[in-house]
Amino acid sequence: MPNRTDLQADCGNCVGLCCIALTFTKSADFALDKPAGEPCRNLRDDFRCSIHKDLRTKGFQGCTVYDCFGAGQEITRRGQSAAEMFAALPILRQLHELLWYLTEVLEYDEAARAAIARIEDVSRTPDLTTVDVNAERAAVNELLLKTSQRLRGKQSKKKERRGADLIGARLRGADFAKANLRGAYLIGADLRGADLRQADLIGADLRDADLSGADLTGALFLTQSQINAARGDQTTRVPSALTPPPHWS
Ligand code: SF4
Repeated sequence: MPNRTDLQADCGNCVGLCCIALTFTKSADFALDKPAGEPCRNLRDDFRCSIHKDLRTKGFQGCTVYDCFGAGQEITRRGQSAAEMFAALPILRQLHELLWYLTEVLEYDEAARAAIARIEDVSRTPDLTTVDVNAERAAVNELLLKTSQRLRGKQSKKKERRGADLIGARLRGADFAKANLRGAYLIGADLRGADLRQADLIGADLRDADLSGADLTGALFLTQSQINAARGDQTTRVPSALTPPPHWS
């Protein structure tokens, strides 16, 4: 069974795959265009980022919110050709993301054990480009939904906000405990002091949302990249598996 540490990026044991394999388009999140397969100009020969401490101020905010879920170091360890590694990265990343969610489900439901074994098995496929990731995701999603519904119980209509457009919404102090915020658009929302305990936040877009003073204890299916994309402060409470990002201090 993987533990969650295995599903976190370990850049020291990766050959900078995300900085080479992926395509980047010049935008507010990435200061230059970069085609797939070409190393970012900020990547040093030792596969470290030369501007790591200044990514947010130098226009590379997108790099601070990318999370490979440990796929980078695993592909590096397998030691295939460059082309094979580049093709494998986005697929293994998605499979590891599913494992991240499933290890959380396992805390509550033994049924996750078989699903984890299945995804681990699929992850070992020699040519990962042959894997039907959408089918794997759909099967896992059923289990995630069931777990979410069981843990959150029946909630009022105002807490059923799946996929809601809450961009820039004023939600200071809102009671979203055990709410369904799956895939909600919370970009730039004011969530200061909000109660998000045990809210289902899978896929919620928290870019630039203000989580200062918010309580996300026990929030379901939340990832490090989601909170890295948000604002917060030293009083923001996050689930125990996650770490408050440096820009919150
Ligand atoms: S800016 Fe740094 S972290 Fe971002 S792609 Fe380039 S080398 Fe990688």
